[in-house]
Parts: sequence; structure tokens; C-alpha cells
Amino acid sequence: MPPVRSAFVAGNWKMNGALAANAALLEKLRAGLPQRKTAEIAVFPPFPYLDQVARLLSGSMLFLGAQDVSERAAGAYTGEVAASMLADFGCRYVLVGHSERRALHGETNALVARKFGAAQSAGMTPILCLGETREERQAGSTLEVVFQQLDAALSLHGVAAFANAVLAYEPIWAIGTGLTATPETAQGVHQALRQRVAKDDLAVAADLRILYGGSVKAANAAALFAQPDIDGALVGGAALDADEFLAICRAA
Ligand code: PEP
Repeated sequence: MPPVRSAFVAGNWKMNGALAANAALLEKLRAGLPQRKTAEIAVFPPFPYLDQVARLLSGSMLFLGAQDVSERAAGAYTGEVAASMLADFGCRYVLVGHSERRALHGETNALVARKFGAAQSAGMTPILCLGETREERQAGSTLEVVFQQLDAALSLHGVAAFANAVLAYEPIWAIGTGLTATPETAQGVHQALRQRVAKDDLAVAADLRILYGGSVKAANAAALFAQPDIDGALVGGAALDADEFLAICRAA
């Protein structure tokens, strides 16, 4: 039987939001979602709004996620947020290794791999973000870079851990720039990532959802989702616009 990977659309709000704006956005999303569940959809608000968003999502088909997590369980780590705390607020997913965390906060592959494990230890599903810079792409090292990012988590946790994980391929040159990888370019990397996991476990690879991220919008979503190894999207800017986000969800 061919694998059945349910489509997944994740909306990363980044450091955007306010009580009133969140409520208005979620009201529009709830009203506009198809009655029948077609794709899994999750929103990732900033930490302070998790409680508000959890309450506003209650009874809907939308899931809650967090944008980051500490590698530590508890203690004297000022400013950090533990995985158990995110689970307390109903988070099902956690982004780890978003390129903005890697670039602006110096997160290494090893740290990201530990965060991946912290999310799983609290019963959540990590979404491991991977992607190359423009210079790395131009130098022809895209696969080398994303394999190193993937391998850090694979070697620390083993391939079985990927039965409860999602990958998000996000070429850094496409994030927030309006430039999107062509569906074929993205498909090539997604396929290579799946093959990499398949070397360790065919079944885990076949069921692993790999999202594409980088300026996804209503106008380009359907062509990306038509690719066999693109299982959905991690959406930034367009996740703040209810009409755009709903259109992407419908395309999925
Ligand atoms: C992101 O932040 O993960 C992202 C893909 O952003 P954007 O959709 O704005 O490019």
C-alpha cells in the first residue's frame, strides 16, 4: 500500500500578534475552515499568547504549536521555556531549528537536535527546520547542508524518533523574501531528504511528512503541494492574513 501522509499546513506567526489581532485572525480562520477535515492545520503564536490561542482554538480542528523550546527541563535558565510548559498549554507541535533561531541566536545543529528530543520527551511532535543560505545553494552544497542538519538529530535520537516528527525544508533565501523555490527544486530536496531517512528505515521515511517553507502563498501553494514529496507548508508572512492562509489550507 502506498503511504498515506496527511497534508499539514503550519502557520508561524513569528514575533507578531496582539490580543485583539489574534482573536480577530482566529475568528476568521475558524469561520473559513472547511467543515470536513482535509488537512491538518496548526498555528504557532509567540509564547505569551499560547494560553489565549489555546482557548480560542478549543473545539476547532486547529492545533497549537510553539516556535521554540528549551533543551533543558527546568531550573535557572532565565528566559527559557521548557517543553513541559508548552505541553501544559496544549501545544502539540514545536518548531526546532528555524533559520531565524539558527542565524540570530546561534543555534547549532547539535543544540537543535537536543531541542528535538526535549519536545518529544514532553509528548509533542518536533518540526525540524532545515535549509541552506543563498551562498550555499550557489556553491552547490544544498544537500550537504540539509543532510548535516538532519543527521544531527538522526544520530542523536535514531531513525525511530522520526516516526513522531515532521521536517520542514525552508531555503533561507526564500524566507520572507517573496522568492519561492520552484516546485521542482523543492521536490528535489524533499525527495533527497526522504531517501536519506529511508537508508535507515523505509517505513519511517514513507510516512514522514516534509513541509516546504519560504514565501508560500495562495498563488503558489497548489503547484508546490502537487509534488509527490511535498506534504504541506510552513507558512510565515501569509499566516497572518486569514484569506491567504485559508486559501493555502484549501490548496492542501
Ligand atoms: C517561515 O518563517 O518559516 C517562513 C517560511 O516565512 P515566509 O512564509 O514569510 O517566507
